[in-house]
Order: sequence, then structure tokens, then C-alpha cells
Amino acid sequence: MAARHLVIGGGTAGMNAIRTIREEESERSSITLVSAERPYSRMVLPYYLDRSIAESHVFTATGKVLADWGVTAHLGKRVTALDTSASACTLDDGTTIPYDDCLIATGSSAVRAPVPGADGRGVHSFWTLDEARGVIAQIQPGSHVVMVGAGFIAFTILNSILSLGAKLTIVEIAPRILPRMIDDTGAALVQAWLKEHGVAVRTGAKVARIEDVKGRRRLKFAAGGDLVCDVVIMATGIKTNLEWLKGSPVKVNQGIVVDEYLRSSVPNVYAAGDVAEGRDLISQKAAVHAIEPTAQEHGRIVGANMAGKNVRYRGSLIINIVEVCHLDVASFGAWDDTGAEAASSVKADRPAYRKLLWRGDRLTGAIILGRSSDIWTVNDVGMLKGLVQSGVSLGRWKAYLKKNPFDVKPAFIAAKTTSTLLPETVLGRPSKAPGETPVAV
Ligand SMILES: Cc1cc2nc3c(=O)[nH]c(=O)nc-3n(C[C@H](O)[C@H](O)[C@H](O)COP(=O)(O)OP(=O)(O)OC[C@H]3O[C@@H](n4cnc5c(N)ncnc54)[C@H](O)[C@@H]3O)c2cc1C
Repeated sequence: MAARHLVIGGGTAGMNAIRTIREEESERSSITLVSAERPYSRMVLPYYLDRSIAESHVFTATGKVLADWGVTAHLGKRVTALDTSASACTLDDGTTIPYDDCLIATGSSAVRAPVPGADGRGVHSFWTLDEARGVIAQIQPGSHVVMVGAGFIAFTILNSILSLGAKLTIVEIAPRILPRMIDDTGAALVQAWLKEHGVAVRTGAKVARIEDVKGRRRLKFAAGGDLVCDVVIMATGIKTNLEWLKGSPVKVNQGIVVDEYLRSSVPNVYAAGDVAEGRDLISQKAAVHAIEPTAQEHGRIVGANMAGKNVRYRGSLIINIVEVCHLDVASFGAWDDTGAEAASSVKADRPAYRKLLWRGDRLTGAIILGRSSDIWTVNDVGMLKGLVQSGVSLGRWKAYLKKNPFDVKPAFIAAKTTSTLLPETVLGRPSKAPGETPVAV
């Protein structure tokens, strides 16, 4: 009998797994997908918000694509329980689906700050397509939007809010913005840039409650100083969608604990994407990344292993890139490693900033910030990511980079970074030229 694969969750990890099973299997298997939502990419929602793409463009697989792949799809249905001893799952409509192996790729959900009024009218999260629709319906030119939380996700939608003609205020409980993406120096430059572009920022500001006043929202702060606005977006964190797994023997820490093949503590159950505590490429420690490239790599590895391959996962690089009113801001790898050797340089007037971190002669982390119109910023974002991801030995080029953090290209070329990165895919096989597959693999 053909192997029966069950994929739970039709986001980035789940869809990459399905595609990879079909590419890698030696004989046609049966694939069942259960997903609470139709397959789409959360990462493109900011472009839907600012109307640069139509809603139809957020979807990653139509019914026809799923049918062509021979996938039996249960869309709009949730898995409510996993019986690992019987190898079967139960859906919210009572259906039971047996499997030979199963992938859990149920992603994460937005969490709102626990303050009175956080669930009230005019207060939104921005994580799912439904939530994006809710925000789109509320923002008009001239609306005052308050974003609570100044982390990576808040910054992915900042440009879109401004391009809709809204006035934006960012409120952050930490003493500075982007606390988990860049350091103090970088954050100060971004904050000054935001001010220059008309975005108000309140740091160290704890929201105490949100009230409805004549159809508008009033945020009350622990230290006083109310703020009245039209729309509140809570970008105050996420949690893994794993409540339904409670009571199963699948071991969960921050996310599902997985081995080097992305298998959970139950051997025929895999995990991928935001729910998986996979390996971090630099630290080699277990980590939940909750970013797109990691979900994609996890999905590819799990898909290959479900198809009968034995692909080891070497770990994913933490990558954060945002564009803030035409200022590119990025960090890679262990950018906050206090034990690393570091060099940094600022050109406050442009603004431009680099911080490079080494362990031995390998670049293990980097922060880069500069105007998007400066071609060297754009190029160096890619090259620094390549240097950290490849882990190439820099030899004497380390000293050069320490002295010249704004001149990355000679070190990138001399260390043969491209030839280290390009020949092999995450599945350990030769890279294919673009055009043969829908996405770069
Ligand atoms: C606005 C926004 C911008 C982003 N921008 C970036 C970016 O620029 N760069 C970046 O790297 N990352 C970005 N991300 C994060 C990235 O989108 C996620 O890391 C990625 O979607 C994770 O993929 P996943 O497959 O693990 O989970 P998801 O994409 O969340 O998919 C999970 C799927 O599982 C389904 N599901 C949940 N529970 C159940 C259940 N019980 N039963 C059945 N199905 C279930 C869900 O409906 C969903 O379809 C962004 C996210 C958002 C929201």
C-alpha cells in the first residue's frame, strides 16, 4: 500500500513539505492536508495591506494546484487531537484521518498585551489574512493608527500603513525599538529616522487600558499621557498553535522538540516552521525562529524525509530584514553575542551603521543599516548574509573588515563565499537554475 502522509497546516512549512514529497518520492504516495485556512503566505500580507497586490495573490496553492499534486485537502478544518498510538488525527467535524507519518506545521498566532480593552472594537492583530482584512477595512487616509509593539512584525507593516495616508504612532514597552533585532546604536538611528519621516515613537510606555470614546480609541498609559486614535494594532508577540496537541506524547518545549531529521519525540511525527524547535545554524542550539526562511527549509527537509530520504538538518540562520521609509535595516545570526569579537562603525549623517561579530575568523553575526537608495547598502545586506550563512574562513580579510566594515565586497569575493553557498541546496543536492522550479531551491 502507498504510504499515507498527513500534513497539518497549509502555511509555508506545510506547502514546502508537500511539494518536496512529490519531488523526492520514488513511488506515488497518498497526501492529506488539513488546514484551518486556505494555503497562503503571511509574509506578503503587508503588500496586500497597501494594495500593491490583490487578495488573490496571497494564496500559495489553488484548488487546482492541490489537485494536480494529488492532495486530499480538508481546508477550513482544524485538527483537534492526535492519537499517536493509533496514528490518527481527529478534526473539529469529528472526521478521523489515519496516517503512516504526519507533519505538524500549524504555525503561530498573534498575542495581544493583557490589558483591559485589548479585545475591544477597533483593536486589531495583524497575523492572519482575516486579521489583515479587518485592518484594511478600518484604515482611511488621515486615520490615526497606534501600533503597540515595536518588534520585527510591526516594522513589516509600517510602510504599508503610511502609504495608506495614515498618521502613525508606535508605542513600545521596552526602552527602545526593535529590541530583539538590532542593538542600541542601530535602534537610535532608526528612531531618529522615523521622527524625520513623521512617525511618532513612545518607548518605555506601558499601556494600562484601551477605552472606546465616541467611536475612537483612547490608550491610557501606566505613567499617564493618554493617546486618542482611530485604530490600534497590537504587534505584541506570537504563540505557537499547539494547544490542540496537549495530552499527546509529542514533547513540547518552546516549540516541538525535534531531532536532526526534524522528527519529534514520536518517530513518525515530524514538526516544521514556527512550531518546531529546530537547530540554529550559528549556535547549533535548539531555537524557535518563527521566520519564513526557516519554515521553508524545515518544510523541505521534512518533505524529503517523509519521502524516504535521510536528510540531516544543519540548522537555519536567523534573518531579519525590514525597510523603514527607505532605510534598510537587517541583522543576521548571532548579532547580540556578547562573547564575540566585534567591530562597528557609524555614519550618523547618512545614516549608515555596521556591526560585525566574529568567532575566530568566521563572521557569526551582523547588523547593517543604510539608505535603500545607497547601492552599497543593498549589496552589502546580501553579502553580509552570505558571509554569516556560509561560515567561510576569512583569514586575513577579517582584519580588513574590522578596519573597513563599509567595504564588504573584497572580503566576500576573496573568501569564495558564493562558491561555498551555491553548489548545494538545503537537501544536499546540486542547485538548479531558476526557471525549472517555482521557487529557488
Ligand atoms: C505580517 C507578517 C509579515 C511577516 N514578514 C516576514 C518577513 O518579512 N520575513 C520573515 O522571515 N518572516 C515573516 N513573517 C513570518 C512568517 O510569515 C512565518 O514565520 C511563516 O508563515 C511560518 O510558516 P509556518 O508554515 O510555520 O506557519 P503558518 O504560515 O502560520 O501556517 C500555519 C498553518 O496552519 C494552520 N493551522 C493552525 N492550527 C491548525 C489546526 N489545529 N489544524 C489545522 N490547521 C491549523 C493555519 O491556519 C495555517 O494555515 C511575517 C508574518 C506576518 C504575519
